[in-house]
Amino acid sequence: MCLICYEFNKKRMTIEEVKRALPEMITFAKSEDEKAHFKKLQSATSQEELEEETNKHTDLQAKK
Ligand SMILES: [Zn+2]
Repeated sequence: MCLICYEFNKKRMTIEEVKRALPEMITFAKSEDEKAHFKKLQSATSQEELEEETNKHTDLQAKK
């Protein structure tokens, strides 16, 4: 489970907080896929863009 997507989706994290946490998430990513995902989140410039990416990720998790 990706904590950052989950917390953002539950509105427990703001876009600013997500952005602040991401460099560390990227540094400690367990796989290249995970790293790519965090970089994608980092490149999101609006609330909507970030929501779209986190929604995709939490949907994926729910199906597993
Ligand atoms: Zn995620």
